[in-house]
Amino acid sequence: MAEIVEKKTHWFQEGLRFHCTGCGKCCTGSPGYIFLSPDDLEKLSSHCQLSIEQFVDQYTQRVDDQISLIDTPGTDACIFLKNNQCSIYEARPIQCRTFPWWIQILDSKNAWERAAQSCEGINHPNAPLIPALHIEAECGTYLDNLLEQNFSHITDS
Ligand code: SF4
Repeated sequence: MAEIVEKKTHWFQEGLRFHCTGCGKCCTGSPGYIFLSPDDLEKLSSHCQLSIEQFVDQYTQRVDDQISLIDTPGTDACIFLKNNQCSIYEARPIQCRTFPWWIQILDSKNAWERAAQSCEGINHPNAPLIPALHIEAECGTYLDNLLEQNFSHITDS
């Protein structure tokens, strides 16, 4: 895993600038999925004071062998985006937590600049310079989490 990250991240060894401005744009807009791992499910259900089964029923959808948060009905906004803010911020899924240190965004400078077009926090002039080592660790967490997202053992109700 570390090897994959290393190969993909050589271009940003000087670090990258990012801070979350809280604009909420990454939680809405074009259709997308927030995939959950078992750790995410445990943390989220406990945060919402629900059993895992209740949380799955109320807030998720099956997408092939994965589970994703649902959108607020009739919108492309995550069900937990309230007043343009994440209402479960402390328990937010690893996919959200590790943005923008995703392998597909770190793949090349071009991919990073493309992501910057829809996220004002990327390359923000007031953002701190995040060291490459930290970025690689976050990307590793994102990748490890991806491997945990198969829920084929859970049967549809
Ligand atoms: S869980 Fe929170 S941070 Fe993640 S998409 Fe939903 S509102 Fe945004």
